[in-house]
Amino acid sequence: MNMILLGAPGAGKGTQGALLAERLDVPKIATGDILRDAVRRGTELGREARKYMDAGELVPDSVIFGLVQEALESPAAEKGVILDGFPRTVAQAERLQAMLGDMGRDLDAIVEIAVPDETIVRRLSGRRSCPSCGRVYNVHSSGTGERCESCGDALVQRDDDREETVRRRLEVYHSTTAPLVDHYSGAGVPLHRVDGDRPVGEVQSDILARLES
Ligand code: AMP
Repeated sequence: MNMILLGAPGAGKGTQGALLAERLDVPKIATGDILRDAVRRGTELGREARKYMDAGELVPDSVIFGLVQEALESPAAEKGVILDGFPRTVAQAERLQAMLGDMGRDLDAIVEIAVPDETIVRRLSGRRSCPSCGRVYNVHSSGTGERCESCGDALVQRDDDREETVRRRLEVYHSTTAPLVDHYSGAGVPLHRVDGDRPVGEVQSDILARLES
């Protein structure tokens, strides 16, 4: 199963992707997570990517393509992958098609998680994550404390989750990523649009039902 999760930043791709990865037993490849890890480790790639990420802009394809190629070729990805955050432009979609084609693989499904912009801004301004294990919380959800329930570390806010950066990320999403829905609608790959403005479990059940249908 090779599938793409489409949706604005904060639509729930990371959360739904992690649940799907467990359920379908294939790894989730999240380009944003790979980049944040490189930033944390202070690698050359991380230093290059950071200036774009902090501004809410896309990191250049010359950086992204290598990451994705490496992840697709890893042994863990042999049975398939769930792509979260890639592709983000039509050029990236074309490159993905070529990479999968070279490996004799096909895209099996695309799931678009749709959430209104105002919900996104509220969600992202309340998002906190654990710097150690990556677990994600939201201060707008009752019961979220200041520390990670899994490892006890103090939760942090992503630099790019500040409101002005979120608004820029949404603009970039609408201008360059949303057109992928049209790009894929004639591509012969099942494209499922789910309402992401619902509790996590409901969205997950909806996605699974559509993948099974
Ligand atoms: P995300 O965690 O998917 O919201 O990504 C966080 C940031 O990483 C984005 O705002 C971009 O700066 C960068 N990024 C992640 N994936 C890509 C991609 N496919 N192409 C370009 N930039 C990306």
